[in-house]
Formats: sequence, structure tokens, C-alpha cells
Amino acid sequence: MSLGEQLGRLLIHEQVSEDEAKMRISICEGCDLFKQDTRQCSICDCYMDSKVKAKRHFELTEFKVVDTHCPKNKW
Ligand code: SF4
Repeated sequence: MSLGEQLGRLLIHEQVSEDEAKMRISICEGCDLFKQDTRQCSICDCYMDSKVKAKRHFELTEFKVVDTHCPKNKW
């Protein structure tokens, strides 16, 4: 497991269903803001393989738990 995945697991408070996570990552993979090499979002810099699994996560920039969402409202 990569460092990014480990960090993502620590910050995830609740997870979505496997189907929901698959739907989200497929949207990211088709998005022009998705970095194919590192699998990060260009806007939030999140590692999307971890972020798409989160229903809620601890947002370091706001220092609170938030509903996980795409910054462009694509999911
Ligand atoms: S989180 Fe949104 S903006 Fe970022 S790569 Fe995924 S679909 Fe694109």
C-alpha cells in the first residue's frame, strides 16, 4: 500500500459502497483534471483511489470532517 493510500485510510471517516466508489473513479479517469501518472486530482491534489471511497473525511485545510465530493461537482 502506498503512503498516499495509507494516509487516505487514516483520514476517511465513513466509506461509500463499492459501486459508488467505482462510479466516482470512472468519472475521475475520464476527467481532464485527473493526473493519470499519479492518479491525483489537479485541483485538490488528493489521491483519488482513496478519496473516491470516502463518504466523509477529515479535511486538513479546514481542520474538520466534511462530506467528500469532487471540487468540480462531477460526483
Ligand atoms: S475529483 Fe473531480 S475535478 Fe478532480 S479529477 Fe475527479 S472528477 Fe476531475
